[in-house]
Amino acid sequence: MKKMTRRRFVAAGISALAAGQALLSGGAKTASAGQAATGGSSSADKKLSGTRLILLGTAGGPRPNKVRSSPAQVILVNSVPYVVDCGSGVSRQLVMAGVPLLKLRRVFLTHHHSDHNADYGNLLLLAWASGLKTPVDTYGPPPIEKMTKLYFELNAYDIDTRIADEQRVPLVPLVTVHEFDKEGLVMRDENVKVTATLVHHPPVVPAFAFRFDAADRSIVISGDTTPSDNLIKLAQGADVLVHEVIHKPSLAKLIARIPNAEKLLEHIVASHTTHDDVGKVAKAAGVKTLVLSHIVPSDDTSVTDEMWIEGARAHFDGKVIVGKDLMEI
Ligand SMILES: [Zn+2]
Ligand SMILES: [Zn+2]
Repeated sequence: MKKMTRRRFVAAGISALAAGQALLSGGAKTASAGQAATGGSSSADKKLSGTRLILLGTAGGPRPNKVRSSPAQVILVNSVPYVVDCGSGVSRQLVMAGVPLLKLRRVFLTHHHSDHNADYGNLLLLAWASGLKTPVDTYGPPPIEKMTKLYFELNAYDIDTRIADEQRVPLVPLVTVHEFDKEGLVMRDENVKVTATLVHHPPVVPAFAFRFDAADRSIVISGDTTPSDNLIKLAQGADVLVHEVIHKPSLAKLIARIPNAEKLLEHIVASHTTHDDVGKVAKAAGVKTLVLSHIVPSDDTSVTDEMWIEGARAHFDGKVIVGKDLMEI
């Protein structure tokens, strides 16, 4: 395991990279296993190159529900998957999206709330159990290094058994952890540059947002945050901003349904962004498309798409999409 080098975030450089990019396809559709690019036809070939964003889980909060899966998304650049956050069920959602687990390459965590990291270790283990034998790099704030180490210890019996019984390559040496606690350049490879900024999500410190700049598209994932000037800077001119959101008028109903949640309302309001403020953030950042995700309340279907959108629309003229699990944008 190694520490990454830290560099200061330079917004200007990133904006320059985003300039002149191809336009979005515009629409959003639901990905499915049937869309897995297996080669052959020209449409399948098309999916192997360029940048795709698939929302894997669009709920906010750690409580499993029947409507939305826990927070996670994958950005595919030239068919290489970059997974951002690992809420419960992320491995299965990747399979449902047609992304082969054995192709897992890079995993990013925005912060250490369990709705974002509950299946971090499980993703590594289950990808390996699915045939992964190539390196995986993971990125996130402390204590990701310790968590990874302890996870492998916790699961040593299964890992050792499968190595002996199924002749699998050892898992632990495949994984390199990059732990960081400062904003700046996180990673750059042949496909994409990833930059982080600090966001405001008390009491979790540090909590990050990420920006992915590929040749054809720029995508920003807010992580969990109140309206953030740092995020607005990071997201300047981006093609797509995936932003967390709460519907404040519906929170009282949510709290009433959750046992022992007296303090929860206070936390939600103090550390998240309302469906009204999210439009102001998108406007200030000058993004083309705003995607609402990490939706709270996540399983209250009486809050319609139109209700989610109306607050943002009051401030933002661009395209607004209410995220759904397995939607491709
Ligand atoms: Zn969250
Ligand atoms: Zn959080």
